[in-house]
Amino acid sequence: MCPLTIPYDPEDRSEFRGANILKKTKIHNVLLVYLAVKILIGEMKFTDFKLDDRLLEAIDYMGFEKATPVQELAIPEILDGNDLICCAQTGTGKTAAFILPILNKLAIDNNPGTDTLVIVPTRELAVQIHQQIQGLSYFVSVGSLAVYGGGDGSEWDQEKVALTKGNDIIVATPGKLIAHLRMGYVKFDKIKHLILDEADRMLDMGFFDDIQKIISFLPENRQTLLFSATMPPKIRDLAKEALVDPAEINIAMSKPAEGVLQAAYLANDEQKIQLIHSLIADKPEYQSILIFSATKKSVADIAKSLKKQNFSVEKISSDLEQRDREEVLGKFKARQVRVLVATDVLSRGIDIKDISLIINYNVPGDAEDYVHRVGRTARAESTGVALTLVNRDDMFRLKKIEELIENEILKLPVPSELGQSPEWDPGFRPTNSRYKKKHKKKGKK
Ligand code: AMP
Repeated sequence: MCPLTIPYDPEDRSEFRGANILKKTKIHNVLLVYLAVKILIGEMKFTDFKLDDRLLEAIDYMGFEKATPVQELAIPEILDGNDLICCAQTGTGKTAAFILPILNKLAIDNNPGTDTLVIVPTRELAVQIHQQIQGLSYFVSVGSLAVYGGGDGSEWDQEKVALTKGNDIIVATPGKLIAHLRMGYVKFDKIKHLILDEADRMLDMGFFDDIQKIISFLPENRQTLLFSATMPPKIRDLAKEALVDPAEINIAMSKPAEGVLQAAYLANDEQKIQLIHSLIADKPEYQSILIFSATKKSVADIAKSLKKQNFSVEKISSDLEQRDREEVLGKFKARQVRVLVATDVLSRGIDIKDISLIINYNVPGDAEDYVHRVGRTARAESTGVALTLVNRDDMFRLKKIEELIENEILKLPVPSELGQSPEWDPGFRPTNSRYKKKHKKKGKK
């Protein structure tokens, strides 16, 4: 755990939404700016960072709609040129948090030589970061190369050229980079940014000395960013040596409460309403059931069909006046209504505790929304159930949620009388969605 991190409570809809910032020297500044921004404009959009238009276009193509907490907090710090210690795990959007401000600087003012060195523990992470750089830098001319070991040697010459001529960004594992550094040709004299990603893992893997050695080849006048999921004393030691007056950001991981039983039903759209019937019929233990769905139409359809089956049900969507909404919510809270069906847009605004069953009719597009919703059940040591109905198009989204919560969600087939379930295939990408449109253009590269 990061020290002094206030754990993120999905039920707590405070302005910080899981992001807790702790700064030694600049805490007031950052808190004030952060709060002011939150209060004035609500959720932070990427346009608020005043990034280059070409980056904003790439962000749009990547499908990022709003900044994640680590991005909200880290991007302004990095754009300001501060060193930064950031306690954040994979899945929080930390890669884009450090890459975007650096690409912004490169887009405005090209540095002739290697400008940025990203050191990472594994080749998988090197490739992943390199790919994200390629996506985000699609409309600006920035070159990136991943340098990592374990190849057949054929990549050596290309790496040598990049390290000699000065590729804009090098993403490297320590061992392979040291091998090149020993040959004497690497030109790192123009480096302005050093990023140590997953620093705790690098130390666990025994790279402490290698990192120090690599740092000895870099100009002292540079911006250094250290990302780590945990902050053991050795990372603090490294930070003291490598960073100057760093800002600090801690992002607590969003995780559903332990007591929640989470499962996903693999279901085609036409099986979903029947599935809901079979899940809640003859289950008096589910006294309070909240169903979320993506569209007003599906909310209306689900409510209508449950009503037909004599369930006590109400619906709530943006069509409803505020007063009527409150009345429906009041009835649901008072347990006068057993089932409430609501659209996704209202999911964060519904502040009801102790719901026995949550059903996600579709997988929420934003993994954090899933955590928020699931947080409505299993409060205070009680147990609750959260079920998500997943069609083939939504499987990759469920996978993202699993990555965020670092847990596998149990997958179940629909009852046999409803027919065949789709196969679990998180690699499948929908054919006619916004996703395809956004990625088609990138694919031409
Ligand atoms: P990371 O924590 O950097 O490993 O990122 C985890 C995943 O989140 C990656 O697949 C990113 O493409 C994705 N991601 C990063 N930022 C955003 C954002 N603002 N909105 C949606 N997805 C994002």
